[in-house]
Amino acid sequence: MSKDNSYSLFEDVCSFVDEAAQYTNIHPGLLAQIKQPNVVLKVNFPIRLDNGQYKVIEAWRIQHSHHKTPVKGGIRYSEHVTEDEVSGLAALMTYKCAIVDIPFGGAKGGIKIRKSDFTDNEIEKITRRYAYELISRDCLGPAIDVPAPDYGTGPREMAWIVDTYSAFYPDSINAAGCVTGKPLSLAGVDGRNEATGLGVYFGIREAMDVPEDMNRIGLSTGLAGKRVIVQGLGNVGFHSAKYLQEGGAVIVGIAEYEGGIYDPNGLDVEDVFRHRKENKSILNYKNAQNVSPSTQLLEYDCDVLVPAALENQITPENASRIKARLIGEAANGPVTAEAAKILIGMGKMIIPDFYLNAGGVTVSYFEWLKNLARVSFGKMEKRHEALNNQRIVDAIESTTGVKLTPLQRKDLVRGAGERDIVVSGLEETMVEAYHEIRQVRDSKGTGTLRKAALVSALEKIAATYLELGIFP
Ligand code: NAD
Repeated sequence: MSKDNSYSLFEDVCSFVDEAAQYTNIHPGLLAQIKQPNVVLKVNFPIRLDNGQYKVIEAWRIQHSHHKTPVKGGIRYSEHVTEDEVSGLAALMTYKCAIVDIPFGGAKGGIKIRKSDFTDNEIEKITRRYAYELISRDCLGPAIDVPAPDYGTGPREMAWIVDTYSAFYPDSINAAGCVTGKPLSLAGVDGRNEATGLGVYFGIREAMDVPEDMNRIGLSTGLAGKRVIVQGLGNVGFHSAKYLQEGGAVIVGIAEYEGGIYDPNGLDVEDVFRHRKENKSILNYKNAQNVSPSTQLLEYDCDVLVPAALENQITPENASRIKARLIGEAANGPVTAEAAKILIGMGKMIIPDFYLNAGGVTVSYFEWLKNLARVSFGKMEKRHEALNNQRIVDAIESTTGVKLTPLQRKDLVRGAGERDIVVSGLEETMVEAYHEIRQVRDSKGTGTLRKAALVSALEKIAATYLELGIFP
């Protein structure tokens, strides 16, 4: 879908909020406060390019809600970044954190650049200067505002930001907590890189395991054998596709910006990833059919569609041609408000972005906790747990006479390491939140999961404002 200048992500999010607010008793004055961004920082800064020329870079950091601090949200590098987009994404972060009970307010950052126009050295300069701009305005810090990766950024950019922050605050013992999504070797947490995609898998699997929900949309229960199309093979898309495939789904289509590929017999996600890296294109993969333009693939026959690239991908223009029964919003805002109405009218189910892609912020929260505690998860208890397990296994073997194989024993005895703890914390968060949203949908009669998720978020945010005494 091309970028539509009249489209406003922020207005779309506000319109979802207004619809959901009708199911709450929140005072209109408080609702107006909840909806608006609290701080909008716009900066223009120069960098010197490798060829000696100068370029002025436009960037934003928008802190949507200070009802909880620090605020949290990714930084996006894209030529399409606008203030409206960053505001909308920041607002989504506020609702997302509330839905999964992560104690942060929402924020988002954006730098308006086409990454491929710059060398690595220039990207580093842009990132460090952006970090400086945030630091100098008190918009970065483990207790203030904690960015993370988003579209076009990753652990490398986060490492540059933490390094810049540490240079300004060499005595800050919590400096590592000023960003999340850092490399593991730099106080990151095991599992953050794949967290959003793994969370998408947990969310879709949970929804598909509820017979009543699947009956409503005419699908049989369970993920196994379901045909899935994924848009975007970046961080979120790749990991969503990989875990959905490992969970038994058949990935029949993958769309990237250069085109899409479709194979009704199923694609091997890791192999497609390798193919794209080697050939600089997803097209011409083994037995798959090329699909061009790639947006056409969204309309192909499948059970589950996972848009995991960008916002504004399913619009009133293509919504009525979508065949999937279940749409899992792995990206932020891929289905517009108008398109959502069309899809729901067609009897489809949408698992909303601010729930489904909350795995990233959930594990970011774990990383921040690890940074503040300065100890990795499992370090204190892993061996103790293993010794306890060993005693239990020894006792069972001696009383029953059953001898376990060395592999069985190893599996039962080992204590939980950081990754085990992170993954189980993520699974618990996604599973619990899904059932909480369903319960709100059914008890309040909101009809859609999106409205129910927002009702749940709005009530939690309003309660915090009331506790703070800001709105008597
Ligand atoms: P990414 O940069 O790693 O990947 C995005 C992918 O989408 C790239 O491979 C890109 O080539 C592809 N793409 C771009 N335009 C496309 C088009 N028109 N059609 C098909 N593919 C296209 O970014 P990401 O981190 O995976 O983020 C993807 C989405 O998920 C964004 O909406 C982001 O805000 C959201 N999200 C990301 C995280 C996270 O932890 N990274 C967390 C929550 C939400």
